[in-house]
Amino acid sequence: MPFPQTFIDDLRLQADIVQVVQEYVSLRKVGATYKGLCPFHSEKTPSFHVNRDKGFFHCFGCGAGGDVFKFLELQDKLGFQDAVRHLAGKFGLAIPDPVGNAEAKSESAEREALLKVQERAAAFFSAQLET
Ligand code: ZN
Repeated sequence: MPFPQTFIDDLRLQADIVQVVQEYVSLRKVGATYKGLCPFHSEKTPSFHVNRDKGFFHCFGCGAGGDVFKFLELQDKLGFQDAVRHLAGKFGLAIPDPVGNAEAKSESAEREALLKVQERAAAFFSAQLET
């Protein structure tokens, strides 16, 4: 997976599934859940449920269900990665750059080199003091 799991978890928490689904389906709050007409099969009585707290949807008519990513995958025919990008953009989360890891690595290598120089300098000065 190209995205860190922590980022996916964060995004799942940030992305309000009710807000996302409501762009496609008109939902009505019923108790703890939201109900609407399922976008994945044709129906006249709403059997499509969205639970905001748990962050998932489920249709009792056709059995479609999943989290906010799954909804976009089904609704917009997006791949998982595109669904992640779409939601990150919508909810203002910065997508971690895979290049970032390489940069972080070279940065720490640089720091290590710098430490070695300082060590050598310290050794040099303490040798000076001893003589
Ligand atoms: Zn359905």
